[in-house]
Amino acid sequence: MRFKDKVVMVTGGAAGIGRVTAEAFAREGARLAICDLNPEAGAEALTALGPEASFEKVNVADEAEVSKWTEQVVQRYGRIDALVNNAGITRDALLLRMKESDWDLVLSVNLKGAFLCTRAVVRHMAQQRSGRIINVASVVGVVGNAGQANYVASKAGLIGLTKTVAREFAARGITVNAVAPGFIETQMTAVLSDKIKEGFLAQIPMGRAGSPQDVADAVTFLASDQAAYLTGQVLHVSGGMYM
Ligand code: NAD
Repeated sequence: MRFKDKVVMVTGGAAGIGRVTAEAFAREGARLAICDLNPEAGAEALTALGPEASFEKVNVADEAEVSKWTEQVVQRYGRIDALVNNAGITRDALLLRMKESDWDLVLSVNLKGAFLCTRAVVRHMAQQRSGRIINVASVVGVVGNAGQANYVASKAGLIGLTKTVAREFAARGITVNAVAPGFIETQMTAVLSDKIKEGFLAQIPMGRAGSPQDVADAVTFLASDQAAYLTGQVLHVSGGMYM
């Protein structure tokens, strides 16, 4: 029970990695505040998180919605111990065919969303002089990936954001780290063609895709007391895709 009575916010908590991560925190005693764009999936996810958990329909790219959600969480639980910036989307295309609207959308959800949530939450953590922020980046944010210029730029930006916020708030007892998942079995990757999936698998020394639980284990570690002296780091959860 590493997170007994801790208050943990997870964005994009209705599905995939976010949902499994929220469940992992809840199993260890945390009180969960999850948000997602999808209200049906959010309501369903909530049922596994215990009586103290809450769900709000929030678009992380919308400043007003993020502020409102954060204030609701503080009013309800009185504090915020950890934020997991997990909400993310893809709109893949090769650069010459990439629409400006798809560039803007991916950057606004994956990168601006994390900025808005971090800025809203970190002031409360600074007052407490403690907090944990974990950003869900991606291995491709480090190595690049053809067909994902918008997504890769957002994840590389998220790693830069992680390191900068880590430096700004280290003296206030707040750690900021990122996980960089490789190829994880969720809705996001289920839509890929067999050819692309095989291409990813061929790059994984461990020879298998990861599970959302593999990522959740890394996120909960970074949020735990065992990671107290770790900040500004990128923990790769990719079966060795990047070393
Ligand atoms: P997913 O599509 O299964 O789940 C993402 C969730 O985020 C969904 O419930 C969706 O409704 C929600 N969401 C999307 N836009 C949102 C917004 N604007 N505001 C609030 N919620 C929003 O995806 P996943 O695979 O679980 O991905 C989770 C995170 O992990 C993402 O940031 C993704 O980039 C990252 N990631 C995934 C993989 C992978 O292989 N699946 C690899 C590396 C990184």
